[in-house]
Amino acid sequence: MINPILKRARPDIVEMESYSSARSLYKKQANMIFLDANECAFEPYIGAENLSRYPDQQPDQLTDVLCKLYDVSSRNMAIARGADEAIDCLIRIFCTPYQDNVIICPPTFAMYEHSAKIQGAEVKTAPLTNNFALDINRIKKESNQNTKLIFICSPNNPTGNLMSVDDILQLCTAFDDTALIVVDETYIEYSEKSTGLLPNIENTPNLVVLRTLSKSYAAAGVRCGVAIAQKDIIALILKILPPYPIPQPVVETVMKILTSNNLQRLTEKRAALLDQKQRSITELKTIDIVKTIYPSDTNYILINVKNSKTLIEKCINNNIIIRDQSHQPTLNNCIRISIGKKEEMDKLLSIMHNEELPTLPKQRIVTVNRSTNETAISVCVNLDAQSPVVVNTGIGFYNHMLEQVAKHGGFSLELECKGDLEIDPHHTIEDCAILLGQAIKEALGDKRGIGRYGFTVPMDEALAQVVIDLSGRFYLKFSGDFPENMVGDLPTDMIEHVFYSFAENLKATLHINVEGKNTHHMVESCFKALGRALRQAIQYKGDDLPSTKGIL
Ligand SMILES: *Cc1c(COP(=O)(O)O)cnc(C)c1O
Repeated sequence: MINPILKRARPDIVEMESYSSARSLYKKQANMIFLDANECAFEPYIGAENLSRYPDQQPDQLTDVLCKLYDVSSRNMAIARGADEAIDCLIRIFCTPYQDNVIICPPTFAMYEHSAKIQGAEVKTAPLTNNFALDINRIKKESNQNTKLIFICSPNNPTGNLMSVDDILQLCTAFDDTALIVVDETYIEYSEKSTGLLPNIENTPNLVVLRTLSKSYAAAGVRCGVAIAQKDIIALILKILPPYPIPQPVVETVMKILTSNNLQRLTEKRAALLDQKQRSITELKTIDIVKTIYPSDTNYILINVKNSKTLIEKCINNNIIIRDQSHQPTLNNCIRISIGKKEEMDKLLSIMHNEELPTLPKQRIVTVNRSTNETAISVCVNLDAQSPVVVNTGIGFYNHMLEQVAKHGGFSLELECKGDLEIDPHHTIEDCAILLGQAIKEALGDKRGIGRYGFTVPMDEALAQVVIDLSGRFYLKFSGDFPENMVGDLPTDMIEHVFYSFAENLKATLHINVEGKNTHHMVESCFKALGRALRQAIQYKGDDLPSTKGIL
């Protein structure tokens, strides 16, 4: 059966032939020779792969992982450069310029109106009700025979709330052969109450759901989003998408984002972000200029304040950008705040509290990233904050040891490593130590105000002495014999190597001396003592360089 909504699409688009490249006419075979598209016969740089060729219109690999992610069939999905491009395509397919219209429900996402205007489509508005719900009667009243699309954002940007599924499905029925209901679920992954409308696609011919990797998969820079709908609608989108819209590097990046390990990691990170949101809400409630905090199913919060302009100006003066929503109907003096990192939220909150911002030295925060064939590592240290301390190397005992260094060192450390543990833990252990050393060295900057220190830590029978000098010169002296080969999942023959790599990259002189009988105690006391020595060494003590040379 033909989808009845197709007769509402522009007839010229429906009749138009799809563009077909020569190779799309034939089944792909292994070792095929492609002399059909005037591509260059060599790669653009040494080590490049598949960059000299046009990608497929909808790359197979990418289609597979995205279909799996959303649990839909490939004939029901079109991949575009973000949900934004899908919005634009839908409007161009359905709206004949200067004749047709779309309905939006403000306050809502700006791009529906923007794309409609570009296409010369009229924009009719059916504002949300007082509690930001859909006004079904108003939508019906606004519609006429030229209404082609109705945009619904759920959770809605900027109000943050979910729309009622019943309302949406009621609209789908009311407009079943006249208008497409486009439900933008960009933020649905943050919702704890709903998983969205994808299961309804099968039974709802005029429903399109938009999803994207931008907001909840932390990949706005990648530009990858999808439209999911019945196959005839998808076929029209594919017809008008620009040639080869998904660049090959995007395909490769998305493959890395959507591995099962990383999906697990993203789920955990989203949960932590929502905790951060909750903490911010609790804090916002105590701020006198905040009048209303709207409930949010997303990674942002909409608040109503006494005077949005003054707050925004104050934030700008402190290098923070937040989003005024006063231009939206009913949102005068409302501000949308994206949930950021802890220290970012802390700064915003203290500005809002009208607190004097600490005029202490600026925070020594550094992030270093490195990716090789063996490991991918990201390390963020803040020498002037104590938390968070989160280490994930894939080696449990090593996580614990590096966390000890940070906790006893009194600095914040976020370290994530994806290493080739299936081969050997060696690369992971060494590379994490290298990057930790580098990060601290960079964070220390010109070392103004820091000292040289040592510390001794006993743990029962074990005793570790660590002396560190952030001298700018590398030297390691390590003495200690561990009775066991392994402590937990960490090989003890790597311990000296860790301190070597760390000190070499920190450009420090490091002396470690450990004695004892129990390997666990001996190892742990080394790391703790290193943390304690670092704690003293990295602290600001006035403004002097602790060296007669004037440079360290
Ligand atoms: C940010 C946002 C988008 C943009 O999505 P892309 O996939 O990055 O184009 C779409 N819809 C809403 C509601 C958004 O807030």
